[in-house]
Amino acid sequence: MTDCIFCKIVRGEIPALKVYEDSLNLAFLDINPCSLGHTIIIPKKHYQKLEEMTEEEAKELFSVIFRLTKIIPKSVGTTDCNIGINNGKFAGQEVSHLHFHIIPRFEGDNGLPMQGLVRMEVKKEDLPKIAEKIKKEIENSEVFKEKEKSEEQKKEKSEEIKESIKSFEREWQEFNLEEQDKAPNYSEARRE
Ligand SMILES: [Zn+2]
Repeated sequence: MTDCIFCKIVRGEIPALKVYEDSLNLAFLDINPCSLGHTIIIPKKHYQKLEEMTEEEAKELFSVIFRLTKIIPKSVGTTDCNIGINNGKFAGQEVSHLHFHIIPRFEGDNGLPMQGLVRMEVKKEDLPKIAEKIKKEIENSEVFKEKEKSEEQKKEKSEEIKESIKSFEREWQEFNLEEQDKAPNYSEARRE
């Protein structure tokens, strides 16, 4: 998207205090920080929401977040941070280019935990029903089936490889036995 502010940062059309960059992802300081070291991490490709990415792209992005979590709080003199996405406009997303926040947290900073984001009234007795709904949705959805399928395929592939190694070993053994039969018997030859 040409007028997206984060795409412009990716293309270098507007400046940003970049702290990390690789071929797929970019991290830079938030221009309006909530705390010291507040960092934005984005995929270079324009997606609005997390679920639009491929799983492979998401893995790459999460791996960068994992690594930066080890570094950013430490580099501003603390141990803790909040990590999150405002995933969609109801969740408070302001820039429509998917972005993670790493917000370092400090002892006595008077901030709220994630649970301070929203406080809907949800009845405790409704929780089992909600859990059921989510489980049913997982069963009916293709999302986890694809995962199962790809794991099944991986397993089959590795079984295939194991089988082909075994058959190669068998052939090699047979070949060796045949060669031994063909070879002149040196021990007998020497005796003569
Ligand atoms: Zn964008």
